[in-house]
Amino acid sequence: MTENKLASFSAAIIGGGPAGLMAAEILSQAGVQVGLYDTMPSVGRKFLLAGKGGLNITHAEPFANFVTRYGNSQADIEPLLNDFNPQMLRAWVSELGITTFVGSSQRVFPLEMKAAPLLRAWLHRLRAAGVKIHTRHRWLGWDTKQALRFNHLETEKTVTADIVVLALGGGSWAKLGSDGRWLPLLTERNIAIAPLQAANCGFIVAWSDVFRERFAAEPLKSVTLSFTDVSGKLQQKNGELMLTESGVEGSLIYALSAPLRDTLNAQGSVTVYLDLTPDKDLARVTKELSRPRGSKSMSNHLRSKVGISGAKSGLLREFLSASEFADQPKLAAAIKSLPLELTSTRPIDEAISTAGGVCFSAMDAKLMLKNLPGVFCAGEMLDWEAPTGGYLLSAAFASGRAAGLGAVNWLQTEKVN
Ligand SMILES: Cc1cc2nc3c(=O)[nH]c(=O)nc-3n(C[C@H](O)[C@H](O)[C@H](O)COP(=O)(O)OP(=O)(O)OC[C@H]3O[C@@H](n4cnc5c(N)ncnc54)[C@H](O)[C@@H]3O)c2cc1C
Repeated sequence: MTENKLASFSAAIIGGGPAGLMAAEILSQAGVQVGLYDTMPSVGRKFLLAGKGGLNITHAEPFANFVTRYGNSQADIEPLLNDFNPQMLRAWVSELGITTFVGSSQRVFPLEMKAAPLLRAWLHRLRAAGVKIHTRHRWLGWDTKQALRFNHLETEKTVTADIVVLALGGGSWAKLGSDGRWLPLLTERNIAIAPLQAANCGFIVAWSDVFRERFAAEPLKSVTLSFTDVSGKLQQKNGELMLTESGVEGSLIYALSAPLRDTLNAQGSVTVYLDLTPDKDLARVTKELSRPRGSKSMSNHLRSKVGISGAKSGLLREFLSASEFADQPKLAAAIKSLPLELTSTRPIDEAISTAGGVCFSAMDAKLMLKNLPGVFCAGEMLDWEAPTGGYLLSAAFASGRAAGLGAVNWLQTEKVN
């Protein structure tokens, strides 16, 4: 039997979300002694929360389309996904005894629509492979001898390791552990970091009290949202959004949240236009509205002739004066292009994910920090963003795997003689 030279080396993985756990798996498979540290009393809390929405683990669209969802970060994320693509992720999930299926709109979910069975099976496998999990360990940076500093049960302790993988998550849902407090620990080591910003987030609209009371939590189904983004490009998408107490959220908003946020940052606010009847053009809406309505109210006329009722009708009432609502051409124009002013994003802590983080320029192709040899980064703490649809977890897993492989490679080339 040949001796595994990596068995005498140790790795500290900090952060027990999907990215950190994946890095731990790769390193332990290579024979490295792995300690995984997390500030929370248990690991994978955000992953479990994602499970509450069914755990959309990846997406089954063609790979060429899939990689475009990473927008400006496509060039950085695509190589990681080339090495761990959605099919490979599904195969990996299946090895854990979890069957996945392709749901509507090509999203991929575990059959049970939960994260807990997957996490349980995974942690069991990791522990069996020798990964030591240390919870309630908050990473505080490095001491003067480059040992890792942790706060554990109100006392400070230090840990040394041959290589380190940081997988500390983004800056939303702080109560689940991902609080972004790692940022200054890296900036003080001259690591370039783009500020964390809300992604896949809600936006604020100044509703009237009456509208808020009646329509908060109502979905707005089958609408087209369009706006001109900060670069002058027309952004347009069809889908469903949710009206909330403070504004709008939901899949249609999340899909456009990056250009919406960037435009809002540049301009102070952004006006979007809602087409409430994408299946009927302006001529058809105008024609239907002009049919005799007899003694019917305008609301009933709207419902029977154009199919507009409930929250859609409420929106028209909210933004049109009584005389505009009674004026058929003005009403038809508003149905096809109702302006809605978004004044800010909802707070970052509520966002499904965050943009910003460790810049790819601060790392080499294997995700090692150029300024800190032997320290790798992975997951949502890197500077990329993507819409919901399984793209977030796909890149978290793929980057965790890449960082783990990068660390193994570094140990082999730099430490094993
Ligand atoms: C409501 C919700 C639903 C979601 N649904 C989906 C979905 O269906 N599909 C999808 O693709 N994505 C979804 N996501 C996003 C997905 O969960 C995240 O992108 C993913 O968990 C990121 O993985 P990560 O390992 O990079 O970070 P995280 O999962 O955030 O893990 C980071 C870990 O680092 C630990 N940590 C942070 N700071 C320290 C420190 N100083 N010391 C020690 N430990 C620390 C944290 O406790 C945490 O355990 C959802 C997110 C939310 C909030």
